[in-house]
Amino acid sequence: MRYSCNICGKGLEQKILKDIKSNGDYYDIFFCDYCMTGITTPMPEPDEALSLYSSESYRTDTGTRFNPIIEFFIYVFRLKRKGDIKRYIERGSILDIGCGRGLFLHIMKKDGWGTAGVEVNKETAFYASEMYGLNVAVGEPSNWNFPNESFDVITINHVLEHVHKPAEYIKKCKELLKKEGLLFIAVPNISSLQAVVGKELWFHLDVPYHINHFSTAGLLDLLKNNSFKILDIRHFNLEYNPFGWLQTLLNFSGIEKNLFYNSLKNPKIRKTIRLRKGKILLTLALLPLFIPISFILSVAETILKRGGTIEVFAIKE
Ligand SMILES: [Zn+2]
Repeated sequence: MRYSCNICGKGLEQKILKDIKSNGDYYDIFFCDYCMTGITTPMPEPDEALSLYSSESYRTDTGTRFNPIIEFFIYVFRLKRKGDIKRYIERGSILDIGCGRGLFLHIMKKDGWGTAGVEVNKETAFYASEMYGLNVAVGEPSNWNFPNESFDVITINHVLEHVHKPAEYIKKCKELLKKEGLLFIAVPNISSLQAVVGKELWFHLDVPYHINHFSTAGLLDLLKNNSFKILDIRHFNLEYNPFGWLQTLLNFSGIEKNLFYNSLKNPKIRKTIRLRKGKILLTLALLPLFIPISFILSVAETILKRGGTIEVFAIKE
């Protein structure tokens, strides 16, 4: 079967990673020579993708995914995102695509913003509207009923890599944003040093959850083709990059793939993993060495403009 690129539609010839094992299935990643984007094949069907997100290993309906210390850091990171947005627009209306449990929108609402969200998982959307009184749409862009040109800001934080038709999302953002409205996008970077070194063991590769694997060039092309003007591109993210290195290094050391990450999730999830004492002890022994190395590597790759995350701030022209 011949695959075509999710972003630009050209035929895909070059396989960059093959036989990546996940939950007993095997996946390949093809790379588009035109827009420099990787695509997971076979692509999970939309129904299959939905059930992946409903499974307890990815999200929970109870509101938290991690232990309280990690949840605290997540809260701090959301506050930082608020600060990043307010550097451009002091206050207005915001749409968060892939709003999850709604924590970020809750923070914005408390700051006086008009808020709305989009979430693919029905239960998670229900949680966000019950818990924080948020207006959350469910489904794909064609199902959203927001009026055109109604938002000052749209954020898409680590979502575009999951969707079947990312170009449709960007077109929809163009319709929904006011003129000179701000679009913020963050995605993992397939051209990053951690991706290139980690290959199929790279933590943020995350197949089959991640369908699209963006490079900076590919993401910028997608935005420019939809009349967005790029304001800022960043490659360092404290929430994603050092941990990306840390879990990748642990994966290299031969310990069960992503064991450390899985063990940080909440106890309900933790119980479902067959934790082996020896592997946990080995992980704990390696952390004092790997944590500083991960920070150093994250800074180094950022200086080389090949950080594990791409964050783009753009305005609609
Ligand atoms: Zn392409």
